Amino acid sequence: MAHLELIDLTKRFGVVTAVDSLSFSVDRGSFVSLLGPSGCGKTTTLQMIAGFEDVTAGRILLNGRDLAGVPARQRGLGIVFQTYALFMHMTVAENVAFGLEMRKIDRAERKRRVAAALDLVHLSHLADRYPRAMSGGQRQRVALARALVIEPELLLLDEPLSNLDAKLREEMQLELRRIQQEAGVTTLLVTHDQAEAMALSDKVVVMNKGRLQQAAAPFDAYETPNNSFVSNFLGKSNSLRAILVEKDQNGSVIEIDGLRLPGPVTDAALGPVEVNLRPERIEMADAGRGIVNGQVEEQVFLGNQWLLRVKTPLGSLVVLRRNTGASESRPGDTVHLNWDRDHLRILPVEVAA
Ligand code: ATP
Repeated sequence: MAHLELIDLTKRFGVVTAVDSLSFSVDRGSFVSLLGPSGCGKTTTLQMIAGFEDVTAGRILLNGRDLAGVPARQRGLGIVFQTYALFMHMTVAENVAFGLEMRKIDRAERKRRVAAALDLVHLSHLADRYPRAMSGGQRQRVALARALVIEPELLLLDEPLSNLDAKLREEMQLELRRIQQEAGVTTLLVTHDQAEAMALSDKVVVMNKGRLQQAAAPFDAYETPNNSFVSNFLGKSNSLRAILVEKDQNGSVIEIDGLRLPGPVTDAALGPVEVNLRPERIEMADAGRGIVNGQVEEQVFLGNQWLLRVKTPLGSLVVLRRNTGASESRPGDTVHLNWDRDHLRILPVEVAA
């Protein structure tokens, strides 16, 4: 049985449908990210799970129990918001102890649990400090300790890292995963940052315009996206309009702007399709050995990689090349591009909503 299950969850604000028949599940002890662009309904979903927002239709089950009518404070959830919401006039230890006091946990037990929570987030040495004298990363840890000390049924995180600078954010991502695993707490994170979601999660739930696009392990969603939206949201992708003209059990033939190319084995129906190709799957070939030739239009150095934009008869293609230390091609150079037909993803044509 899933620890948390959403069944056709819907939220309407007047004429706006913020969350539209959303269904997904979260296994016990797992880390799941709710991912999508601004306004896709992530926060509204979290607020309904937390009990801060009424449900228009659908159900939320926690341990198989319907949460309809259960007040927020009785749901036993630990929540960390973007702003941390710490009490500035209380020490770190007092902040962490607060939820236990509210629950009338006795003093000795409180002391033990606060010490364990601070140890978990590596803040024992700052127990008597006030949050105003702490860095963003440290405050983040206090907020986590405060949410975890009550031994929540579920940990809900709403963009908890978005106030941190890039380097600290990466560090805290690793810390968040360590803390979640050590605590063994089932966790649902809301984020618009696809790299963060992929780095942290056992499963990503990708949303767009209130609707579920895909719920899968990060690798599976990246490699076998359900549609172009998922493919483009989870990373860079070349999306090409094409026609699937032939197929059998060994492969297929696609046509792009009159050019016929070998395609992968596919379940898609013959006719218009969208073909996606990840930039890192395109290789440079020797002259005469590429699938298409093109001219380098632009080249950007990314440190560990080069990003090239290449003009080809199929359209402009983005290519990612590992930086090997040798100098790369230059704008205007002719290059020969090759890829394995199995790296082409045949997806349904996106229909504008
Ligand atoms: P962000 O990443 O920007 O926080 P989000 O994915 O969390 O976005 P939500 O905040 O859940 O998105 O909003 C989803 C939709 O519902 C948006 O169109 C938003 O304008 C609308 N919405 C959210 N709250 C309300 C409200 N209280 N009243 C009316 N519309 C709302």
